[in-house]
Amino acid sequence: ARTPPIPRAGKSPSSSARSSCATPDTSARAALTPGALRAWLRGEGVPAFRAVQILAWVYQHGVDSFDAMSNVGAPLRAKLASAFALPGLSAPSVSCARDHTRKLLFALEPGRAIEAVIIPDPPRLTACISSQAGCAMGCGFCATAKLGLQRQLDASEIVGQLLAVRRVLDPGERLSNVVFMGMGEPLANYDAVVEAIEILTAPWGFGLSGRRITVSTVGLLPQLQRLVRDTPVSVAVSLTATTDALRDRLMPVNRRYPLGELFATCRALPLAQRRRITFEYVLLAGVNDAPADSARLIKLLHGIPAKVNLIPFNPFPGSEFAPPTADVIDRFKHRLLAAGLSASVRATRGRDIQAACGQLAASAQGLLGPRAAAPAASSAR
Ligand code: SAH
Repeated sequence: ARTPPIPRAGKSPSSSARSSCATPDTSARAALTPGALRAWLRGEGVPAFRAVQILAWVYQHGVDSFDAMSNVGAPLRAKLASAFALPGLSAPSVSCARDHTRKLLFALEPGRAIEAVIIPDPPRLTACISSQAGCAMGCGFCATAKLGLQRQLDASEIVGQLLAVRRVLDPGERLSNVVFMGMGEPLANYDAVVEAIEILTAPWGFGLSGRRITVSTVGLLPQLQRLVRDTPVSVAVSLTATTDALRDRLMPVNRRYPLGELFATCRALPLAQRRRITFEYVLLAGVNDAPADSARLIKLLHGIPAKVNLIPFNPFPGSEFAPPTADVIDRFKHRLLAAGLSASVRATRGRDIQAACGQLAASAQGLLGPRAAAPAASSAR
């Protein structure tokens, strides 16, 4: 049971920190999320089937006005238009990498922005989306962490990234997979992420199977258990270290949920038989890439239906780490394979446009500077 819509300006915990004169949205219209819409329709005495019609206009057809909802009567459309804002991310600026990875940068309020990345990998086309502006998790090797948490995104902003992705795809391209691996810790914005997953999987929404959606987490364990219970998505856990001493240092969340608890929880997750947990492991030269690290990793994963995704560190301005050499990466992977684990190295995509893992830090990268003026679809391919 969700509360009825409340004005946009009052709903985010961080909104009080925003200066009122800098908040352009004075319309007090609520974000059009499934929960808010259903509650509002109930209050108006409108039959529930209308919710499905309206949500289909918004999320399946991506209309940009309530007037386009031709099977909804004009009086209801007018009321809707005064109560709700359609998913309202500003038009993104798009940059295109040499490998055809595209990055969409969305300005939020002044000084805040989020990013989504389109990764073509035929026959798949994956969108990597953000769940928060900034992030509070403080991982030492991640550019987003340097921003701190700026604010939560609501479900319509999370899914709004995908509405925009659909609009910029080339003819013949079709979104097939979604990963919550952009900015933010999805499980620290649990309700909005679960609502976004509902939109992604609903027949009136994106109609994606849960297996094509992956939520990646630093390991917020209570929320991870809930997520597996409440949604059909695949899960990925960012591990990156095999001792508490190192993980405490690289990923502060480990002090709250250390490795012992993390793996006890992973072993007990009620995964459907079809599913394995992905463990992401950011390879940092001289820090976690030694044979002793792979040996501990093999032990930790024993008996867990797992696959390991090795991510060579992607540098960003001011970062203190480096990726291992190709040779070291290869040997690390082969030690895992030799132990019978499934392991792959994540191809680095879009590094030339700062779109690779851990490089998303929109506002830190001079959103407010001259580069922000880059026109949409500036890509010459
Ligand atoms: N907060 C979530 C999802 C976003 S990060 C999580 O941590 O899982 C997506 C992945 O990128 C994570 O596995 C993270 O460890 C990894 N990552 C972060 N910074 C990186 C960097 N600089 N280079 C390579 N991978 C990085």
